[in-house]
Amino acid sequence: MTNKEIIALTTESVAGTYRRFPIALVRGEGTRVWDADGKEYLDFVAGIAVCNLGHCHPKVVGAIKEQAEKLIHVSNLYHIAPQAEFARLLCEHSFADKVFFANSGAEANEAAIKLARKYFHSRGEDRFQVISMERSFHGRTMAAMAATGQKKVQEGFEPLLEKFSYVPFNDLRALEAALSEKTAAVMAEPIQGERGVYPPSEGYLKGMKALCEEAGALLIFDEVQVGMGRTGTLFAYEQYDVTPDIMTLAKGLAGGVAMGAMLANDEVAAAFTPGSHASTFGGNPLASAAGMAAVKAIIDEGLLDNCRTVGAYLAKKLDDLKRSIPAISEIRGKGLIVGMDIDVPCGAIVTKCMEKGLLINCTGESTLRFIPPLTVTEADVDRMIALLEGVIREEVV
Ligand code: PLP
Repeated sequence: MTNKEIIALTTESVAGTYRRFPIALVRGEGTRVWDADGKEYLDFVAGIAVCNLGHCHPKVVGAIKEQAEKLIHVSNLYHIAPQAEFARLLCEHSFADKVFFANSGAEANEAAIKLARKYFHSRGEDRFQVISMERSFHGRTMAAMAATGQKKVQEGFEPLLEKFSYVPFNDLRALEAALSEKTAAVMAEPIQGERGVYPPSEGYLKGMKALCEEAGALLIFDEVQVGMGRTGTLFAYEQYDVTPDIMTLAKGLAGGVAMGAMLANDEVAAAFTPGSHASTFGGNPLASAAGMAAVKAIIDEGLLDNCRTVGAYLAKKLDDLKRSIPAISEIRGKGLIVGMDIDVPCGAIVTKCMEKGLLINCTGESTLRFIPPLTVTEADVDRMIALLEGVIREEVV
């Protein structure tokens, strides 16, 4: 099928929840993808921070093939070796003692919110309030949406779940004022990724943890977007000298295969007992095998180092661009999640870049977001900058 045929079929038969660009991607390798008409693109979107290993990483492909020939799915009524091994690997590399597997970021966040409430319920404490951040994003299911501090995500789906409230990100005073003896958890992305890229200010996450401890509330970090090596460490929290009680993962967790996870320390995780929570597909053999291969590759193939090195190079190149183009007002980020504010309609830039063979993405009204695979090279960055600069100069003039 051609791009045109696939677009027609999509329009006819797929629910209209996505505003899609007029191409259909059919193949990928490393930092490149190809559309149905054979056109090549340099991919700085990576499935929205999913394909951290690049497209079709051979180790992930191999693990999926091997597992698919052995066992694709069995129920969580039985023990599943790849699930147990993957949980162990995640615990070895994080603060956590236990993992609950889900299939997406929203589901992982649902599990986190349920666990926080169940934890206090099991202690006989009347705490159920969840405080999250303005401008946050936690997913589209009812609880994840209620935790998402964006009116535009919630509009039309009211009444929202009760007992969710929001405070501005990077404002410890507002958080302190909002915390009460009814607060079960404070939930935050260590770096806000979905509505512009906003890193925490110095000491903010540490202060957040201290306030939670003082108030007796749990701290949930949503690392769905910034986890799995994206900031240069396997998990972003490692760089801020702070440990959450619960952490959620998805996106890059299983090398492109759908998977989410909620990690917690033993004390908190103990509140989930048989029957508390479940998922038919959560931790299935196929996703778990892909996850094992993906995490091992991130660690063994030097991708954290590459993320830091090429991330610094990308930041420098964008900074050079900012100095020569006044329409660029700010650059924010860490490792290979970078946002660039620009006073030109972002959508037009993204479309023109696509026409020239570069995929980038726009988040918020005026922020371009760069989230390439962690395998990206400095040569890829140079090519991206050259294409982007050309497009911006055309748009600015
Ligand atoms: N949390 C964060 C920080 C995200 O960026 C996203 C998706 O963009 C989600 C949760 C939701 O993940 P999913 O789309 O897999 O449900």
